[in-house]
Amino acid sequence: MYRTHTCGELRIDHVGNEVTLSGWVQRLRRLGGMTFIDLRDRYGITQLVLDEKAPGDLKKNVDGLGREFVIQVKGVVLERQSKNPKMDTGDVEIDIRSLKTLSPSLVPPFTIQTDTDGGDELRMKYRYLDLRRKVVRENLVLRSKMAIAIRNYLDSQNFIETETPVLIKSTPEGARDFVVPSRMSPGEFYALPQSPQQLKQLLMVAGFDRYYQIVKCFRDEDLRADRQPEFTQIDCEMSFAEQADVLNTFEGLTKHLFKAIKGIELTEEFPRIPYAEAMEKYGSDKPDIRFGMLFNDITKLVQNRDFNVFNTAEYVVAVCAENCAGYSRKQLDALTNFVKKPQIGARGLVYMKYNEDGSYKSSVDKFYTEEDLKSWAEACNAKPGDLLLILSGEKEKTQNQMGELRLEMARQLGLRDKNTFKPLWVVDFPLLEWDEETQRFYAMHHPFTSPKPEDIPLLDTDPGKVNANAYDLVINGVEIGGGSVRIFESGLQAKMFKLLGFTPEQAEAQFGFLMNAFKYGAPPHAGIAFGFDRLVSLFAGLDSIRDVIAFPKNNSGRDVMMDAPSPVSDEQLTELALQIKLPEAK
Ligand code: ASP
Repeated sequence: MYRTHTCGELRIDHVGNEVTLSGWVQRLRRLGGMTFIDLRDRYGITQLVLDEKAPGDLKKNVDGLGREFVIQVKGVVLERQSKNPKMDTGDVEIDIRSLKTLSPSLVPPFTIQTDTDGGDELRMKYRYLDLRRKVVRENLVLRSKMAIAIRNYLDSQNFIETETPVLIKSTPEGARDFVVPSRMSPGEFYALPQSPQQLKQLLMVAGFDRYYQIVKCFRDEDLRADRQPEFTQIDCEMSFAEQADVLNTFEGLTKHLFKAIKGIELTEEFPRIPYAEAMEKYGSDKPDIRFGMLFNDITKLVQNRDFNVFNTAEYVVAVCAENCAGYSRKQLDALTNFVKKPQIGARGLVYMKYNEDGSYKSSVDKFYTEEDLKSWAEACNAKPGDLLLILSGEKEKTQNQMGELRLEMARQLGLRDKNTFKPLWVVDFPLLEWDEETQRFYAMHHPFTSPKPEDIPLLDTDPGKVNANAYDLVINGVEIGGGSVRIFESGLQAKMFKLLGFTPEQAEAQFGFLMNAFKYGAPPHAGIAFGFDRLVSLFAGLDSIRDVIAFPKNNSGRDVMMDAPSPVSDEQLTELALQIKLPEAK
């Protein structure tokens, strides 16, 4: 037997027992003639001691040890002289009687402890060492617990877990496909699923009624902190279901997870806010509602004076930052620089201080009377001591910019508390999005999303105005999931493809199997997918999904540990009937 106990298990009750432990050497200390070893495994750390009177060969054994050696120790549990209340095993230590090295270790490239000295790249290259660290491992334990809680809940609601293939035909979800060449069909390719969207719809045609899967999805897009080229969805579909059925079921799942995993009881119904309202009030389709600072459209109040910037703007918006009238010149300049950053793209920032003494001071005082400024304060419900921040320009852009500024202000004011959770549903998304560059419509969610029945006539006259039965779950400004009621009728589906610029032949070639399936009795159906990685990182209080993935890719989509992607041999290329033609260096 390698061990009688784990390194997290021994307590004062075990004193006097003879035990065997196995694990990694976390730390070695020599004090006087004594040697102390911290022995670590997944479950904890136990202190081992070697007395100076120990036999010579045992001493020699211990002398040969280094950090991260894997050892097996037999010894007797002793009560510690100086107890360590911070450790679960801090009341005891093991008096070493024999010790065997099971596996030596090179000096690790960084320290295996919570505050490691290892930089990001190094930790990713040696991810198996990084995963030995408690902080990292705990995220993956949380992930495992959450997966189990999800399965329990969905099983209790009659969902059938069904695996779908990874080698498929492309499913458009708005990203580029990863493709896999086929040896048996030279010149042809599979696509890796951006999601199992069409397959789960086919399972509804198949009469499965309720499907779910915790499933890998693949999207070849530019990466950010909350994006990976492969990521995991909790993917679901329900038959004979309307929007409300999906929202209720998945609000239930969300509440169950908060209760089961975090012990948080979310008793209130999640607010359901239409997309248009989210944009008007928060400038975002994933609003953070942990704090207020809502938008106030003050366009009418500020125009027809001498300030041309506002006069010519389509939209002027203000937010009220409470108790911030004391912001210094320097702080205001920093905010101006923030909105002027290229990623945000505003041309400038106007402010108005409603001072404690009731006076007003703005950066555009030249153009406005005290009465004007007062009317702005009133429109924003400002109190003495508050600060108004004002942006102007083209409406959609300005909304987005103010959305970013609102988040930045809340960050500065400490209003984005990681332990407060405020979920909401954003509903009634537009069906289509117009793209100026390519001069065509794109599906805002995906092409299988149903228009609102009352908007169907608009598909012919004003498609941009059509709203969809599509919804997102948002928690603390993070889009956790999204879904929609589906089209289940081949005629309407064909019309949708046409709107998206597919010729009937292209639609047939790409989606024929789905439209055909709809001809054999398709039930009305609707579904949703949650981003599992994001959900876990939210629960873990982390900003990046990388920390909740065992083997993540870096920002260039590389696995730096395995060194992938990497070239393949000429034989493989020949077999696949492929030739590499690299773009010429610029
Ligand atoms: N397939 C969709 C997505 O990946 C989710 C859904 O509509 O159910 O976003």
